[in-house]
Amino acid sequence: MNTATATAAPAPLLRVERLKKHYTAPQRWLTPRKPPIQAVDGVSFTVTRGETLSLVGESGCGKTTTAKSVLRLVEPSSGSVQLDGEELLGLSAHAMRLRRRDLQIIFQDPYASLSPRLTAGEIVAEPLRNFGMHSRAERAERVQWLFGKVGLRPEAVKKYPHEFSGGQRQRLGIARALALNPKLIVCDEPVSALDVSVQAQVVNLLMDLQAEFGIAYLFVAHDLAVVRHISHRVAVMYLGQIVELADRDALFSAPLHPYTEILLSAVPVPDPRTPARRLLLQGDPPSPANPPAGCRFHTRCPLAQAVCKEQAPELAGRPSASGGSHQVACHFR
Ligand code: SF4
Repeated sequence: MNTATATAAPAPLLRVERLKKHYTAPQRWLTPRKPPIQAVDGVSFTVTRGETLSLVGESGCGKTTTAKSVLRLVEPSSGSVQLDGEELLGLSAHAMRLRRRDLQIIFQDPYASLSPRLTAGEIVAEPLRNFGMHSRAERAERVQWLFGKVGLRPEAVKKYPHEFSGGQRQRLGIARALALNPKLIVCDEPVSALDVSVQAQVVNLLMDLQAEFGIAYLFVAHDLAVVRHISHRVAVMYLGQIVELADRDALFSAPLHPYTEILLSAVPVPDPRTPARRLLLQGDPPSPANPPAGCRFHTRCPLAQAVCKEQAPELAGRPSASGGSHQVACHFR
């Protein structure tokens, strides 16, 4: 056997390169043009089959915009998004719609994303009908199978969304996302609206489905305990850019970026004998319409030096505590 072939890393399922989403305010008569809001500014990452990559960071860091840009629910300003080697950003609306078979999304608020006029069975059957499963009997059979996979009772097909609990509604959203056998599901804060006990059930369900079907997740969350449980790798975003990207264990046990250290210090420590060492983030995040020059974190960084105000650090690889990959954007780490 060719050794090079045997050891080659698998091609990524999703490859995102230099992705940008800048929002430009409409120009008003006799008023100066406002600078664009740089919601996402030059983000690159990959996701392999069956992997969970989480995007974390403060509100407004660009994690949800990045995830929605991958699906083109938000139209990126520039960059590249490739699924299985096919560029998605140049596709026509029709071609993109067909490609969405492979790319699904689970929303934070399942109630808002489910039509109140359709029964649960009709909601899950809708994508099947839209993508060519014309036989009513086949659709009904597939819906029953999907309900079983997500832990909903068969008779629930006749209920309307308002008759479900929050956790059951999220299971319904997962069944709808699963209907077309997607390769990748974007999970946009899928458990943050749920009670803590229900959160664990839904996270475990997502992990079971991944193990059974090899689905990849691009998981957006702010709850780092959930992220630690479900992720294979984690990307930390600050002001529209990735500042650290590493295997889950390396990131949580030996974070490199000062911003990641501060974020992780807020995670509760379960062992009462381990003293909590809470670090505080100084000040408010700068405006994404006018991000600081140099390192975007320098206005809040406890380690900032003169060079940080002038030169933006590249996201570059470092030796990893776990032996896996570890990238960080900092001049001193
Ligand atoms: Fe802090 Fe400078 Fe590193 Fe940015 S480059 S994180 S400001 S030390």
